[in-house]
Amino acid sequence: MALTEKIEAIYQEVVKRNPGEAEFHQAVKEVLDSLGPVLVKYPEFTEAKIIRRVCEPERQLIFRVPWQDDNGEVHINRGCRVQFNSALGPYKGGLRFHPSVYLGIIKFLGFEQIFKNSLTGLPMGGAKGGSDFDPKGKSDNEVMRFCQSFMTELWRIIGEHTDVPAGDIGVGGREIGYLFGQYKRLTNKFEAGVITGKGLIYGGAQVRTEATGYGCTYFVNEMLASRGDGFKGKKVVVSGSGNVAIYTHEKVTQLGGKVIAMSDSNGVIFDKTGVNLETIKLLKEVQRRRIKDYCEYHKNAQYTPNGNIWDIPCDVAFPSATENEITGKDAKKLVKNGCIAVGEGANMPTTPEGVHVFLNAGILYGPGKAANAGGVATSGLEMQQNAGREAWGFEETDIKLQQIMRNVYLQCSEAAEEFGSPGNLVIGANIAGFIKVARAMIAQGLV
Ligand code: GLU
Repeated sequence: MALTEKIEAIYQEVVKRNPGEAEFHQAVKEVLDSLGPVLVKYPEFTEAKIIRRVCEPERQLIFRVPWQDDNGEVHINRGCRVQFNSALGPYKGGLRFHPSVYLGIIKFLGFEQIFKNSLTGLPMGGAKGGSDFDPKGKSDNEVMRFCQSFMTELWRIIGEHTDVPAGDIGVGGREIGYLFGQYKRLTNKFEAGVITGKGLIYGGAQVRTEATGYGCTYFVNEMLASRGDGFKGKKVVVSGSGNVAIYTHEKVTQLGGKVIAMSDSNGVIFDKTGVNLETIKLLKEVQRRRIKDYCEYHKNAQYTPNGNIWDIPCDVAFPSATENEITGKDAKKLVKNGCIAVGEGANMPTTPEGVHVFLNAGILYGPGKAANAGGVATSGLEMQQNAGREAWGFEETDIKLQQIMRNVYLQCSEAAEEFGSPGNLVIGANIAGFIKVARAMIAQGLV
């Protein structure tokens, strides 16, 4: 069987074994499509069936999460944790609380996390978890009760040397605090390294909040620098208005770019004078309001309900909301409107058709598993500090983050070059991330 046929057969098997999990299939296909040349160089990977093994999670837990709202009504959600791969370190990856969550989403995220974590160079395996619970519109007490119930199942399979959750969509500092508090209560241990994204006063790390957005901006800055360019004077569009989007805006602005549009799941704001970050932080971080209220503070800004943010012409785009938010059509529009670089702050935000458009157009394209690795990398730094009972300063942590992102970029572009696709950071990220995991798996025997 020719190599590409062998890989195609493995992919078909994954689809058959995991029916109805479209996002997981998409994530697997993208990685597998990159691996042909790797199997030529490392025939031992085929011999040991590494690709088949890597596509099968090591362990998965699905559980009931019952909780009561403020009126005493009972609700039932479903929670899960997929521990995908521990070749490089304890399972590591966030928790997502969002109504769209089902096993297929968590498996796509967990699968990507394996290679993303590998690219950071830190000792972390890959995992992901979450629930179809929607924190939007819930009171603090409701969120607390939900988190306590969720952790009452999850605690059995996590630990600082086993599996270290963190945040993702719908899980921020508030949720992490409640989850950590319940873990401490159940285990009778202040085990700081069991979860990352903690508050600074109880074991959290400087820069963790900013890390995904800052890291993504550093990554794009490296891509721009490879063409002798930078952020100065660039018009930038950042989708979303959560943690990733907010700190992308902050760093882009510090580096001389201007963010002219942001969004949430209800609509888009466009402010040609530059989106005011303090207003966004107030609305989103403090008041938990919708982005349309931005116009109450800035009368010249425009709000478009259900608008498509990718219709707005820009030089650099940062999809930082969610998966598959840029379609093939959106990608074409971006390229036509003069976009020269895309940095994925979200996980898998571009459809396969969209990725194809960006790569064909030859624009700078930083795929999520590389470009947004700064979040989990800084989680890795939080784990280091917890293990050493240390607390590093903001600047020294930020410098480490910058170095890690530079290194992620270099690994991707060098692997792309070495395996015959110079400039293609999708192939570069998949190959560089995969090889380390595969070699570690072989070294550890058939487990
Ligand atoms: N959820 C983030 C990601 O997609 C961060 C995970 C972590 O810090 O463990 O990488």
